Amino acid sequence: MALERTLSIIKPDATRSNITGQINARLGAAGLRIIAQKRLRMTRAQAEAFYEVHKDQPFYDSLCRFMSSGPVMVQVLEGENAIAKNREVMGATDPAEAAPGTIRKDFGKSIEANSVHGSDSVETAKREIAFFFSPVEIVG
Ligand code: GDP
Repeated sequence: MALERTLSIIKPDATRSNITGQINARLGAAGLRIIAQKRLRMTRAQAEAFYEVHKDQPFYDSLCRFMSSGPVMVQVLEGENAIAKNREVMGATDPAEAAPGTIRKDFGKSIEANSVHGSDSVETAKREIAFFFSPVEIVG
């Protein structure tokens, strides 16, 4: 077991539905500590840079429009195996395929508006955390 940090984003569909508190409760119940958190609205350019890895995907344009369409909550989560644990709590990308009891199953509206983001590897987590937070904003 390793103590890890991961980037979480509560996406615009979830802030619009006013369920950030419910999502945070699920993260806490899974043993993930929120050690940094802020609400912001991504610019289109920020969304494009954040999702650059997907720039050749057919959904890139729509995804960047969606992610800059309203406020998001960006968070750093810390815990044992936090990266995999958060992905487990989130559920599969497509809410229709997500396991019962996962955030995406219970709150996600579509494969795009799927309520939450979570880093998928140690390297990605490092890059994504640094994208939004400076070290002094993270208090473990
Ligand atoms: P994740 O790691 O489970 O978030 O999934 P990916 O890294 O594959 O995709 C990033 C994000 O792009 C997803 O969370 C969705 O918001 C969006 N996305 C993924 N696949 C599709 C798709 O087929 N269509 C659309 N419109 N959006 C998608």
